[in-house]
Amino acid sequence: MIYDVIVAGMGPAGSTAGYYLSKAGLKVLALEKEKLPRYKPCGGGLTTKTVEALDFGVSELFLDTIHGGIFTFKDKALKLMCDMPYAYTVNRREFDYFLTGKAKEAGAKIIDEERMTKIGKKDSHILVETVRGTYEGKYLLGADGVNSVAANFLYPKVKRKILAALESDVKAPADRIETLRGLFQIDFGSIPLGYSWIFPKKNYFSIGSAGMGKSAKKIKEFYKQFIDAQKILNGIEIDKAHGCTLPMPYSQNVKLAKDRVFLLGDAGCLVNPFTGEGIYFAVESGKTAAGTLINHWDNPKAESLYDKAIKEKFYFEFKWAHRLMRLVNAFPGLSYQIICDHKEVMHVYFELLRGTLTYEQTVKNLTVKISKYLKSKIGIK
Ligand SMILES: Cc1cc2nc3c(=O)[nH]c(=O)nc-3n(C[C@H](O)[C@H](O)[C@H](O)COP(=O)(O)OP(=O)(O)OC[C@H]3O[C@@H](n4cnc5c(N)ncnc54)[C@H](O)[C@@H]3O)c2cc1C
Repeated sequence: MIYDVIVAGMGPAGSTAGYYLSKAGLKVLALEKEKLPRYKPCGGGLTTKTVEALDFGVSELFLDTIHGGIFTFKDKALKLMCDMPYAYTVNRREFDYFLTGKAKEAGAKIIDEERMTKIGKKDSHILVETVRGTYEGKYLLGADGVNSVAANFLYPKVKRKILAALESDVKAPADRIETLRGLFQIDFGSIPLGYSWIFPKKNYFSIGSAGMGKSAKKIKEFYKQFIDAQKILNGIEIDKAHGCTLPMPYSQNVKLAKDRVFLLGDAGCLVNPFTGEGIYFAVESGKTAAGTLINHWDNPKAESLYDKAIKEKFYFEFKWAHRLMRLVNAFPGLSYQIICDHKEVMHVYFELLRGTLTYEQTVKNLTVKISKYLKSKIGIK
């Protein structure tokens, strides 16, 4: 049997693509290496723009509605609220399984515990080898996450930039959860070139730290220091953390699709370099890949159309988000001081996550504020 499309990986990227392709009547085979539903180390922060991007409601899965933040730096804390929610929290096991269910309802054939191990070619088709057999499809969508076999098949020599992370889900008493209800705690001071977080869920916290470069190597140490410094976690038993990674975007010249193989979500390194948000880009790339194939089936330009569409939608913002990350990382103490003195700056964070403000505007405004601030400190008008 030759499938129209084989989708590898049933995270948000693969499930979204599988849903749209099946809904359009294409024969879709979806392969997932884990037994479903599966655990996924993740903060589970779902921005409002992600919810809006989905074709169906997911509110039944929300564990909290986020309309504020506590921004910490060393022993300082700044709490800010906004008038509208900008995110929700979900359990990734439940959220991802729900999306997989939608793909299945739409007609996708889903096989779990079926890891893709190798990719080959037969005439103009793609051969996907797994731990149990070989499947044939006209296209392959690689939605197989950060350690993607598909990405490695297309680009065995391209080294990916990675953020190392540690994450735990920690059961906490109701009164502790209540203190953080509706708030993301984001910490900028505990890790050079990184950040830590505590996100509230129904009866547990998602806690984590992520860092790159030298910080990636010492992530265990930074994570422990962060936890030890949090009063809200005093006396709470912290389970062993899950080690995981977040990819940073590919450079412009790496094509996100080639020779009937498309890279989606983390497999295509579609993660915001400043916030580490990836679910939105996974969903959007799933939609875009499916839309491209539905509208340009068997068109030899389909791959370049997908590559162009994704880069036009996201790369300009990724470039500015990367600049914002460099700015904050270069001057963490100063950035925090400016936030404290000009609280409206932090409201920008909410707008960025909502998608109602651009990173370009933000970086330009912030550099002007930093320059004014420094001048005022040394008496230049
Ligand atoms: C610690 C941490 C915290 C994060 N917090 C947030 C957050 O709060 N909000 C946010 O938006 N983003 C967050 N992210 C990023 C987000 O988790 C990812 O960007 C997102 O999951 C990408 O979705 P995906 O579908 O591309 O990949 P994944 O969700 O990773 O799904 C890939 C799937 O492919 C399967 N797979 C892997 N290899 C194979 C194979 N060879 N064959 C078949 N199947 C395979 C995997 O089992 C998995 O089910 C976080 C990431 C980390 C590491």
